[in-house]
Amino acid sequence: MATDKLFYQEQSNEVSLFNYAFEHQLPVLIKGPTGCGKTRFVAHMAEKLNKPLYTVACHDDLTAADLVGRHLIGPNGTYWQDGPLTRAVREGGICYLDEVVEARKDTTVVLHPLADDRRILPLERTGELLEAAPGFMLVVSYNPGYQNLLKGMKASTRQRFVALRFEYPSAELEQQILIKEAGADPHLAFKLVELAGALRRLEQNDLDEVASTRLLIYAARMMSSGMNPLDVCRCCLAEPLTDDPLTVQALMDVARIYF
Ligand code: ADP
Repeated sequence: MATDKLFYQEQSNEVSLFNYAFEHQLPVLIKGPTGCGKTRFVAHMAEKLNKPLYTVACHDDLTAADLVGRHLIGPNGTYWQDGPLTRAVREGGICYLDEVVEARKDTTVVLHPLADDRRILPLERTGELLEAAPGFMLVVSYNPGYQNLLKGMKASTRQRFVALRFEYPSAELEQQILIKEAGADPHLAFKLVELAGALRRLEQNDLDEVASTRLLIYAARMMSSGMNPLDVCRCCLAEPLTDDPLTVQALMDVARIYF
């Protein structure tokens, strides 16, 4: 049975850079704002390279044990269960840690020896020292916009990675993404991308975050199915970005120029 390949619109030369990094067994760091295509890119590359992908959304309670694995209690006593990182290491898959700077600091202890030329994962609890299978690749991402002094990634960690910077796609590419991903007609896709451009230019003044490609896709889907365009702008492109009613109003003033 034929399976649909995941759609990914390349923005620059990231596909070939990733391929080179994979070939040379180098880990990759992707930085970019939320909803700009980082996760989709990694999923696309895993599919292209035919590698199993283990994705972990990192949060501030995520510990090394969540990545590596832990002993669990079953009907026949305790047994060891590999975490996603260990599975990728054993199988030669891709382990993608999304928003890696959120994770607890103890995770760096397991990431460092895997992210340099040693490519090993010490499993303290079982006494194993795993050598990563040849296809294993570590990919991490973070959003530099969320960075603060406490959460910044240490130089000793970031200097172990080949780093790519993602931005929101150019207007032409973003329009293509809306057409392919949301089934929007070209005129609607064009108008939404124009609006996004205008909203994004407001960023410095009012907002921490701007409308992402992800939100534009939501908006395109809802408008394409007949929902009132201004209602869509409010619930997809204004309310998700701010809690301040005055800022919502300002965003809607811009939306009214386009819809
Ligand atoms: P991030 O991981 O950067 O937060 P995602 O990769 O989850 O963002 O992207 C959000 C959504 O936007 C995806 O589910 C996909 O529908 C769409 N998208 C963003 N960029 C692209 C792209 N370059 N090609 C195809 N779809 C994209």
